[in-house]
Amino acid sequence: MVQDMQFARGLYDNYELYREQCLYNRRFKYKNILRLIFGIRNKNIFTVKKAGESFEGRDIYLISLGHGPKKIFCWSQMHGDEPTATAAIFDIFNFFSAENSYTEFKEFILNTVTLHFMPMVNPDGAEVFQRRNILEIDLNRDALVRQSPESKILNDTFENIKPDFGFNLHDQERIYTAGISNRSTAISFHAPPFDYERTINESRTNSMKLIVQLSSLLNEFIPGHIAKYDDDYEPRAYGDNFAKTGTSIVLMESGAWTEDRERQFLRKLNFVLLLMAFKSIAEETYQFENQDAYKSIPFNKELMIDFIIRNVKIIKGDKKIIADIGINYEEINLKNNKDFFFKAMIKDLGDLSVFTGFRELDADGLTLHPGKTSEQSFHSFEELNNVNPIELFENNCTNVKVDIETTEFEYSPYPFNVVLKNHAVNSNQIKVEALPNFILRKEGKFKYAVVNGFLYDANLIQLGGGNGLIIK
Ligand SMILES: [Zn+2]
Repeated sequence: MVQDMQFARGLYDNYELYREQCLYNRRFKYKNILRLIFGIRNKNIFTVKKAGESFEGRDIYLISLGHGPKKIFCWSQMHGDEPTATAAIFDIFNFFSAENSYTEFKEFILNTVTLHFMPMVNPDGAEVFQRRNILEIDLNRDALVRQSPESKILNDTFENIKPDFGFNLHDQERIYTAGISNRSTAISFHAPPFDYERTINESRTNSMKLIVQLSSLLNEFIPGHIAKYDDDYEPRAYGDNFAKTGTSIVLMESGAWTEDRERQFLRKLNFVLLLMAFKSIAEETYQFENQDAYKSIPFNKELMIDFIIRNVKIIKGDKKIIADIGINYEEINLKNNKDFFFKAMIKDLGDLSVFTGFRELDADGLTLHPGKTSEQSFHSFEELNNVNPIELFENNCTNVKVDIETTEFEYSPYPFNVVLKNHAVNSNQIKVEALPNFILRKEGKFKYAVVNGFLYDANLIQLGGGNGLIIK
């Protein structure tokens, strides 16, 4: 184990040598990975085969390397907006292609196991950065009836390979902590059961042991940020069905790490984890792990919130209360599907002491004033460059009117929201699911503005990246 730890540390420290530079955020597309697949096709350690076509006609590839008797199959991004492991797979390809590094290790792996990868099982969903495929089917609920071509491809490939180990690679939402704690789940694991009784047979035992080994390695890098996904049986899901065949399945979900929304750190952990898993399977060291330790990995709990403002004074009529306000940011895809903007929402209000914010503000002594729309209206977006946001905030305003009916802009790049003509301007309300737009004052004086859930101080310093909305 000590040796394994040193080896994992080496991979972690050397990761930058192998990181695929062409993939640098989460919204990369099929054409980006196609170029990389064509690139490795000429390298003789890889076998690249077309496994089939997506509904919209994108070729889905199976990339294999090694010639050992133990078979491992890794598939990623069956949910189009869960690309972290896909990027890590291309990092792993770079690792295996790189000359004069880890030569002995790679030789050992390729002689002992055969590795099969299907990156981006759902390229049509990835194109528009959505979970489901283009038929609006969740592929992970299509394992039984297989109405989507991508489902058939994954299933047929799995049946052809008959792997000893399968890695089902996903991203999970940012809302989870590792058990009841204040630590976001960075990586969660699951050894899926194959029946409602959650029977533990030999192949599931092996999944559990491997997970125990991987989580203890991971614990050196991100102590306490590791969880179990759940322990439910989902008859329509792939992992659960593949587990029926006697393959040891490991579900791995990349979650949240501080403000790393693009999950590039988690991608690095995926790189280390998968290589360590291959090592363990090749050496069969997972067999020495204590299966009971699987039970003590905490489950995901829904206790993370993007931004929590604590102890703020809210006035209703002549009454006042002190409450916490929890704000979550939803990512809205831009029309080009290459980028996104944020739309914030009040997720919860009241005593939020059990929750942890990725960001927090202690608003003790501050009074909330719902954001108003300014009296003055403007004729164009260009004129908005002349608006002094601090002046707006001093007047408890978070919104500005523009006298135009439509715009090409999809969000407001300003630290205020833009209200288009003819839009009924109702003032912002402080309630669950409403837009978080308000001013915080201390003894009457402006202290902070919260616009679309993002915090600005009196020097207009935006505490964390963000944007305003166009209200139309
Ligand atoms: Zn998923």
